[in-house]
Amino acid sequence: MSFSSLGLIDQIAGTLATLGYNAPTPVQTEAIPAVLAGRDVMAAAQTGTGKTAGFALPLLQRLAMKGQAAPNSARALVLVPTRELAEQVHESVKAYGAGLPLRTMVAYGGVSINPQMMNLRKGVDLLVATPGRLLDLVRQNALKLNGVTMLVLDEADRMLDLGFSRELDQILEALPKKRQTLLFSATFSDPIRALANRLLRDPVRIET
Ligand code: AMP
Repeated sequence: MSFSSLGLIDQIAGTLATLGYNAPTPVQTEAIPAVLAGRDVMAAAQTGTGKTAGFALPLLQRLAMKGQAAPNSARALVLVPTRELAEQVHESVKAYGAGLPLRTMVAYGGVSINPQMMNLRKGVDLLVATPGRLLDLVRQNALKLNGVTMLVLDEADRMLDLGFSRELDQILEALPKKRQTLLFSATFSDPIRALANRLLRDPVRIET
């Protein structure tokens, strides 16, 4: 199995070759075609399975094929529970999107909000963020959520464990109803299933 045969364009497949990714992992094999086809996805995936590339590669490709970011807006939003994960996911996104004409950004709390507000002025194609800082940016009018067409909840179980349920609800309320949603979680407890039922439309289910 190759990345190209999953539907990824040559430019992305070439980037993966330079990163030394020889073949897709099982979660990538399932997720990439589903996300490229515009489907919602619910995936049980631990760290180390290659889940980040599983959502980031097809999202970057979809973003590169169509549309552009409006000022103070994001087209794809990746929500993560911690700043460490935010940094890590954004580093991966930058590596996977090398050479694509896309603007990406990371935003988390505990650091000054002003540079983040400045960076959002032009708009971004893909924003990786923690829930609290994301809401701060919305409240400061630095970010509007009405242009988000793709949403990823990464490590959704940890997000709930860390008490982000209210923040998540507020964010979800501000997002367009018509969008593609991907939910990744290591475990599927009742609260995660409830969240998935509320958020996902006819999802492709992935268990690896
Ligand atoms: P993740 O589960 O997304 O945290 O990824 C775990 C690690 O696997 C990261 O260091 C990735 O760079 C690496 N990785 C992801 N996909 C592949 C692949 N198809 N081939 C080789 N390494 C990969």
